[in-house]
Amino acid sequence: MQELLLAGYVDERREELLATLTEWLRIPSISADPGHAPDVARSAEFCAVLMRDAGLDNVEVLPTGPDGDGSGGPAVYGDWLHAGPEALTVLVYGHHDVQPVDPLEEWASPPFDPEVRGGVLHARGCSDDKGQVLMQLAAARGVLSRLGRLPVNLKVLVEGEEERGSPHFEDLLRRGGDKFACDVVVVSDTTMVAADVPSTTVGMRGLVAFDVTVRTARSDLHSGIWGGTVPNAALVAAQMAAALHDGAGRVTLPGFYDDVRELSPQEARSQAELPFDEQELMDKAGVGELSGEAGRTPYERTGTRPTAEVVGIHSGYGGPGIKTIVPATANFKVALRLVPDQGPACVVEQFRAWAAAHTPRGAEVEVVPVGGVSPLVTPVDHPAVAALSRAVERVWGKAPLFERSGGSGPEEALHRVLGAPVTFLGVALPEDNFHAPNERFDLAQFWRGVLAAGELLVELGRLPRAAGRAR
Ligand SMILES: [Zn+2]
Repeated sequence: MQELLLAGYVDERREELLATLTEWLRIPSISADPGHAPDVARSAEFCAVLMRDAGLDNVEVLPTGPDGDGSGGPAVYGDWLHAGPEALTVLVYGHHDVQPVDPLEEWASPPFDPEVRGGVLHARGCSDDKGQVLMQLAAARGVLSRLGRLPVNLKVLVEGEEERGSPHFEDLLRRGGDKFACDVVVVSDTTMVAADVPSTTVGMRGLVAFDVTVRTARSDLHSGIWGGTVPNAALVAAQMAAALHDGAGRVTLPGFYDDVRELSPQEARSQAELPFDEQELMDKAGVGELSGEAGRTPYERTGTRPTAEVVGIHSGYGGPGIKTIVPATANFKVALRLVPDQGPACVVEQFRAWAAAHTPRGAEVEVVPVGGVSPLVTPVDHPAVAALSRAVERVWGKAPLFERSGGSGPEEALHRVLGAPVTFLGVALPEDNFHAPNERFDLAQFWRGVLAAGELLVELGRLPRAAGRAR
């Protein structure tokens, strides 16, 4: 096997890198908690120092918030733009904020007192996402020290409020103008199937949700006097929720599947190879049965297929004992995950039509759409994905499988605002407890990640500029 560019570098720097990561992880940069705002700011400053140490230029801590007023969690930016106009410009994305830690009593070691047990680092933020950001910065530093230059123009953007839904991220990108312009985005904030089954994410689902209110009377009515002869809002909401899927588990919105793009044969083959164990999935979720669209695997149901989930339903009396009423109002909420090429605006129209068709006489139904994120996919035969696959294969010894993430995140804004294809070099593992107690990061994956990030810079450096850009 050919020598990896950063093999010697990683061997020399293991202790230093682990010490740096440990120090960063001691900062409790919980973005959801305003009480930790000073820690998020401290974490941003720490990240800025890492960027300068890596040899990046123009390093700055970027205030976020409405019009950049500084009320949001600060992002950090740095670049190295000396590869020349013919080289690709690559923007690496990650985040330095972390999730809250409760329930604290479930942690085997304190979340902000990092501890290595059996080659695995334990701390909040170690894999999601400080470790994966450091992996990228270490690779840039290593390649600069080895070659004296980078093969690409590199921009690194590390967000400070991803864990609270990136409320100001799109605004940050837009205000940045040309600062963030790039040919390819590389996101390091995802997982692989397993340490011996390397994989790369190539898409994320979109999201649109609905808050649905049902009214059937002016106020609740006595169930003895009126029950049996007036409509019941709780029943209407339950019937509507039950009508969201047909007997085969397919969503009944009119035209819902019309815009769903078929997978390319190459991606379909890769999907079919993704290993899964139904019993293991059931144990992990704590359920007795898997459900969903008939004839689809769990990977398809959570990645390449759209879904509708009732995320809440409320009506009538919920206190102790019984209150004998016919409820006058009910509310239910539905979250739909979308896949290419479904658009949130189009699905809003479909949902309104569906709700109107399922509103019985005597009921009033109000639909309020909430949010709207478009789905994202980068074709698996895109040159940037091929470059990433080669980098991963060189380190793991096998080419990565292609995965779709079921979730939705700031990657869509990166794609839409910057107009660049989004690729994913993510080396965390499914068992790394993202967002949960005992978050962990397998150090073997960390070292491999640094090696792969170095190989990726080399591979992307071999692509002509025209190979970048979205398709
Ligand atoms: Zn993350």
